[in-house]
Amino acid sequence: MSIVSSLSRIKQIALILAFKFYVMQELQGIGLADLIEKYGAPLYVYDSFKMEENYRNFTSAFDVESLKVHYACKALSNISILKCFKSYGAGLDCVSVQEVKLGLKAGFQPHDILFTPNNISESEYDEAVTLGVKINIDNLEMLEYFGSTYPHIPVCIRINPHLMGGGNRKISVGHIGSKFGISIHQVPLLERIVKSFNIDVEGIHVHTGSDILDSDIFIHAAEVILDVVDKFDSVKFVDFGSGFKVAYKEGGLETNMPEFGEKFSVMFNEFCHSRKRKLDLKFEPGKYMVSNAGYFLCKVNLVKQTPATTFIGVDSGMNHLIRPMFYDAYHEIVNITNPDGQHKIYSVVGYICETDTFGVDRKISLVRKDDILMFKNAGAYCYSMSSNYNSRFRPAEVLIHKGKDLLIRERETFEDLIRGQVELDLEQMEY
Ligand SMILES: *Cc1c(COP(=O)(O)O)cnc(C)c1O
Repeated sequence: MSIVSSLSRIKQIALILAFKFYVMQELQGIGLADLIEKYGAPLYVYDSFKMEENYRNFTSAFDVESLKVHYACKALSNISILKCFKSYGAGLDCVSVQEVKLGLKAGFQPHDILFTPNNISESEYDEAVTLGVKINIDNLEMLEYFGSTYPHIPVCIRINPHLMGGGNRKISVGHIGSKFGISIHQVPLLERIVKSFNIDVEGIHVHTGSDILDSDIFIHAAEVILDVVDKFDSVKFVDFGSGFKVAYKEGGLETNMPEFGEKFSVMFNEFCHSRKRKLDLKFEPGKYMVSNAGYFLCKVNLVKQTPATTFIGVDSGMNHLIRPMFYDAYHEIVNITNPDGQHKIYSVVGYICETDTFGVDRKISLVRKDDILMFKNAGAYCYSMSSNYNSRFRPAEVLIHKGKDLLIRERETFEDLIRGQVELDLEQMEY
């Protein structure tokens, strides 16, 4: 080995080591521990630079004539986050009429909002129709209602191809036992309903749930969906939903977007070309857009040695971040106020009065009372799934944008907790 190449090898190893033990302490030049001083703990922090990068990485992976990415806003629905995605050029995917209203308030045009609910009442569809957004229909019963009530309004149809994209059973929604969509086996019946009501089917949609690791399986599912597109000349767009996997650890498994995008584009372009059809391509990623752009910071209340383990008790719980308890999600946890301490093994737990575990047997640099722990991948399905369980306040949210820290949600107060509760005066009541 020449001196030059061995030197560059040493440099490479040093870089890898530095990266391995590197604990991020600032975002766009702003110290995370300083944010706790300023806004208190616990705190959600989002990096707009990262969100935009995710959006650009996603869109640039595809080479098709017309692509629209609808951000699935249930992942993180703060109105200022929605405005970020609007500024990147995204549309929105909404699963409730309340999300639709948030989207409109954020400035999205109705035609850039796709409403993809499941098991809702006619009146919620009626409201969405009034708001003028694109409607995605999830069952044949509702399609018949729609066809008879709104004969001139175009619709999108959600198909369930019954193919597993991977992932665990709680988050996979395309399998045969799933409640979502119109079964691929009911397409002949679907055709008859469309024909008899003269329904304008402008879109075909599929969303099979999380964890695309094997592009080929997803592309196979897409081909099944394109067979349905073949049956409806009115279709103008095909929406392939989401399910893009993000890495939860350094080097963890994730969807290879450039590879997926290239393979998918070839398949999609071939389809359009062979049918001489111009179709808009849509996707609706949530997690991919925001997961790694979010950080959850909380303070250590207690380090407790028991015969079995060392617990770190933090000033938060599953009411703020439920994913580990809900579906065994992994969030990397680092100590940002003692990054160079000796690594020890801990179990990190919350303050909710029932089993409330964030992570078991985690290697974290020496933790002391009042240290700040940072949970990574806290952008998607974290704040948006939070609650007031145990009558605790939800945390504040801060957006780091163009080198500035901006408060985008205030920490809750006792007034928020009591708002809407009706306090009876039972002693004064007459029986
Ligand atoms: C939740 C959801 C998404 C987003 O899924 P991610 O795994 O977060 O990307 C997209 N489309 C629909 C219809 C959804 O319900």
